[in-house]
Amino acid sequence: NYRARSAFKLLEIDEKFKFLRKDSTIIDIGCAPGSWLQVCTQKSTNGYILGVDLQNVLPIPGAEILSLSDVTNLEVQRRIREKLQNRKVDVVLSDMAPNPTGDNATDHLRLIELCRTVFRLFSGNEKEKEMEGGNAFEISKNGVFLCKIWDGSSRAKFLSELSSHFSTIRTVKPIACRDNSAELFFDMPWRTAVKVALAA
Ligand code: SAM
Repeated sequence: NYRARSAFKLLEIDEKFKFLRKDSTIIDIGCAPGSWLQVCTQKSTNGYILGVDLQNVLPIPGAEILSLSDVTNLEVQRRIREKLQNRKVDVVLSDMAPNPTGDNATDHLRLIELCRTVFRLFSGNEKEKEMEGGNAFEISKNGVFLCKIWDGSSRAKFLSELSSHFSTIRTVKPIACRDNSAELFFDMPWRTAVKVALAA
């Protein structure tokens, strides 16, 4: 039994791209109530799984969790680095959602900003690194960054930012998303051919 229906989105995307492996190191940002973590612990039985959320998250065997933790906070980013202990991360997940303001354009921009924060955790260049000692973590060579955005005017710009670090960017819209939702997920293996899959 999954704690949320969003589990089925991740299962569906993984069914297609098979990036959750037995020994994957995974970080799931915005993990509460924990259904993606549940999926991850089923798939990556030999790896390392870390979840982060603003909310309190009940324990999940096989995953470590940083509850009550805002990923935009530098101290939280340091704790992420401590937990990962130089492991290279194979899969970076973000299903974060800011509290909706009711204005779609604003919500879109706020979610893109959160995704950028996650992106910078592993891609910050020397100049923009805020943390002494470097990035919060490194993504592995064939690492995947799967992040949810709500579609809107900044999608193209965000994608082009990502394309400086990833050679493949795919846009996926899981069937499990509600019909009216503007949710899109990006999943980007390093150094492979570009393919875009956008299901209506
Ligand atoms: N994937 C999760 C699951 O399957 O259980 C559902 C995630 S839910 C849609 C979005 C989560 O993002 C919320 O729990 C929220 O607290 C979290 N979130 C939003 N902003 C955040 C931030 N700045 N730092 C950490 N988590 C955040």
